[in-house]
Amino acid sequence: TRVLLTGGSGFIATHVLNVLLKQGHSVVTTVRSQDKADKIRKAHSSFGKDKLDFSIVEDIAVEGAFDNAVKSDPPFEAVIHTAGPFHFNVTDVQKQLLDPAILGTAGILKSIKKSAPTVKRVVITSSFAAIMNPFKGNWPEHTYSEVDWNPMTHEQALMNAAFAYTGSKLFAERAAWDFVEKEKPNFTLATLAPPFVFGPVTHNLTSLNALNTSNQLINGFVQGSYKDGIPPTITFLWTDVRDLALGHVLAMEKPEAGGKRFFFAAGYFTNKVMVDIIRKNFPEYNDRLPGPQDQGGDYPAEGVYKLDNSQTKQVLGIEFTPFEKTIVDTVNSLKTVGV
Ligand code: NDP
Repeated sequence: TRVLLTGGSGFIATHVLNVLLKQGHSVVTTVRSQDKADKIRKAHSSFGKDKLDFSIVEDIAVEGAFDNAVKSDPPFEAVIHTAGPFHFNVTDVQKQLLDPAILGTAGILKSIKKSAPTVKRVVITSSFAAIMNPFKGNWPEHTYSEVDWNPMTHEQALMNAAFAYTGSKLFAERAAWDFVEKEKPNFTLATLAPPFVFGPVTHNLTSLNALNTSNQLINGFVQGSYKDGIPPTITFLWTDVRDLALGHVLAMEKPEAGGKRFFFAAGYFTNKVMVDIIRKNFPEYNDRLPGPQDQGGDYPAEGVYKLDNSQTKQVLGIEFTPFEKTIVDTVNSLKTVGV
């Protein structure tokens, strides 16, 4: 399949690109600079231009940002849209978080409808943020699934950077489903909603300063940032980036994935379990970790929400990686960058 992958320099997209190339697809990926394109090209030097090519899209929030990127010869049959800001280093939440997510998503769908009628499937990386109700806390009596939508309003999303990120994912996913309903394009849509994504960082990363947001928790432990106490667990659900990458490609390939939203959660975790795994597997970091007697970061006494990931398992056929393997592989990959 001829595929357009957005945000190819990102943590998740790097893994999506690996799966696409391994499975023989022909990929054009958007990046923000030639320098990023060159790095990715170098990491995949055995693939020719027909299998891997680049298109520069500096800012997905700009009107018409994808107008050129969606045009290709041979034409695209599928688009995987992962690009979007996931960090909290912002001064203007509307411009830096909400706009790129929402306008970027609506924008690419508009460009596809206008200029790439051969595209039959669009896959979008949404988030558990678009599912979970942030006003319900641990909500032990509730089971989250694809039918849930975060009830946050735009006004609430402006309250702080964490809410703005949450809102950016919610409104972007809603905009995508609304677009399909109203515009009736040639393509069908599939969205993937992962919670905390952990997993190996890859060769494109040259410094830990550029480490993606979700892996910063693991990095924080091995760097000794939480030596004095395990921080409270914020989200109790996680998924492995390699499973998620495969999920994107399967959601693109499988006809029956069209029109579906996938709650892409492998299972539960706590920060306490994470530290226990690092302590057991990497004794060399023990003097940087909170001690085994530290009771922080555990499940709350009342329990937490449940998860129903059956649609992801059944339709996509995903077998989730165990948490311990993910954490061990992630720490090993951080070592190669310089922990
Ligand atoms: P990264 O920060 O590693 O990747 C984000 C990608 O989006 C980068 O390639 C980045 O480019 C690009 N990007 C961000 N803003 C813009 C913009 N305004 N214009 C053009 N490109 C932009 O994060 P992840 O890989 O973790 O995130 C990928 C997607 O997955 C996001 O949509 C995120 O919301 C979603 N997600 C992530 C989760 C996680 O735990 N990691 C959980 C749930 C969803 P550059 O690096 O050049 O700035």
